[in-house]
Amino acid sequence: MRNLQGRLDLCSINTATLGHREALSVTIDRIAAAGFGGIAPWRHEMENANVADIARQIRALGLSVTGYCRSTYVPAANRAQFKANIESNKAALRDAATLGARCFVMVVGGLPEGSRDLNGARAQVIEGIAELLDTARECGVPLALEPLHPMYAADRAVLNTLAQALDICAQVDPGHGGFLGVAVDVYHCWWDPALQASIGRAGQDDRLLAFHVCDWLRETRDLLLDRGMMGDGGIDLAAVRSDVEQAGYDGLVEVEIFSKENWWRRDPDEVLRICADRLQTVC
Ligand code: ZN
Repeated sequence: MRNLQGRLDLCSINTATLGHREALSVTIDRIAAAGFGGIAPWRHEMENANVADIARQIRALGLSVTGYCRSTYVPAANRAQFKANIESNKAALRDAATLGARCFVMVVGGLPEGSRDLNGARAQVIEGIAELLDTARECGVPLALEPLHPMYAADRAVLNTLAQALDICAQVDPGHGGFLGVAVDVYHCWWDPALQASIGRAGQDDRLLAFHVCDWLRETRDLLLDRGMMGDGGIDLAAVRSDVEQAGYDGLVEVEIFSKENWWRRDPDEVLRICADRLQTVC
């Protein structure tokens, strides 16, 4: 496993970690000034910015873009909406290419409003990924399927384990074309008894595109917005990173913390300092 001591160049900050309280250009400067090697911005941050300008700023600071967050949910109540969702994702893929993103993060979506058809939603996800894969190839930006903890199956993602994501990769991209893989986020996957085996399989299949860290707080108060700082919860982060790197992952370690009541209320530079410290001591 790589030693992260003094190697913040191997570490990236997902901008959600700072709570999206400032303009993206300010956040980019902060992350670069703190010494990190990468950044993962969000689409909604581009609404008041020009993607080409942002790309130039990121490049000038020498940051790599470890992921572009995130997909429009795929499953829909009707075909017109499904098609609109796919088109929205194609547009985002083009922006991801402008940004030079290493992957486009796919949070695939939950059940359509009012639906109880879980299998149908999962089938739509597979169909949507197959359709987006061509655009991903054209843009040169791989799709990173991010399985979410099953507590989000209804509203955010019907893709819930790494094994399930890898099965979809094998089905949609049997030739291993290099533009479809997975994002391993410890918050979503740490509980999975098959995690180590699935990480090994992802490595063998050459599908490891991103690695996201935070922690699971034992007394978690909110299932979306109370992620812990690395070292404050129950995840053996070093063990998971060891598995991921043993499986061949050589990309950056990305911090992604949603924390409405705690970290999003703190001074952004303090948050970055603590991220840097924990990355080098507990990850
Ligand atoms: Zn993530």
